[in-house]
Amino acid sequence: MDMLLSEKNSRIITFAQKGEVTEKTMRDTLKMYQVSTLQALSLGHTRSVIEVSELKKNGDTGLGTFEGVDGEMIMLDGHCYRAMENGIVQEAPDQMGVPFASVSYLAGRRSYDFTDIQNIETLKNHLNNCIERDFGLNSMHMVRIDGSFDVVHARSESAFHAIHISLKDMLSKTQKSFHFENVTGSLVCVYYPDYMDGINAAGWHFHFISDDHTMGGHVFELIMKQGHARVDKISRIELQLPSDAVFDTYMLKSASEDDIKKVEQGTE
Ligand SMILES: [Zn+2]
Repeated sequence: MDMLLSEKNSRIITFAQKGEVTEKTMRDTLKMYQVSTLQALSLGHTRSVIEVSELKKNGDTGLGTFEGVDGEMIMLDGHCYRAMENGIVQEAPDQMGVPFASVSYLAGRRSYDFTDIQNIETLKNHLNNCIERDFGLNSMHMVRIDGSFDVVHARSESAFHAIHISLKDMLSKTQKSFHFENVTGSLVCVYYPDYMDGINAAGWHFHFISDDHTMGGHVFELIMKQGHARVDKISRIELQLPSDAVFDTYMLKSASEDDIKKVEQGTE
């Protein structure tokens, strides 16, 4: 009898422990892993903070850029893709450096369907309405939209190696825009609330990759026929700051919000 009881108790303890593990795993699953800050990137800290292989251990979905701002990053299904200055996509090698990124594991706890979206502002409004209604606007969100598009206007850039050249000046030299017509693919959309401005761009940030993983970039305009969105509210963040001495040479407070908005959400 005693033995049975203790066996039962030990089973309960085991279940309780398992429960904790599951809860903890869930919390970790819904964590944003943020490499450096957009402020630091905007002021020109474009050196590697971690490698792609390390980034992949912290999420399967997200966006960012590469050392020297050498193209736009799209993380999808655990693969890390690099859209080059001509919009052509390659899988990024594991040892490639990452100066800035936001990734999480996509659970897709809520989903929404959109049709006939005529421009990016409309898409932002729809997404804002969905998260405001179902979650509120004060958390981070990771969204993946699989859809078909009449057109996607995007941009990317090639590497520019310098230490204290602002991202805006860098992009004015290296950035190119292009567009894709009648294409199916995925948008990776990251949302940061206003009060986190500086860590990332407040509001929405969209990167695109085609279904065949050959085309992509940072999206500044689109017409979407239809799209299926999977949305996660994210309440935790792990911030991996650069550990090099150069990081401490930046006056991070001086990054202008307008500049950040222009380079990350601009419509040029
Ligand atoms: Zn971007």
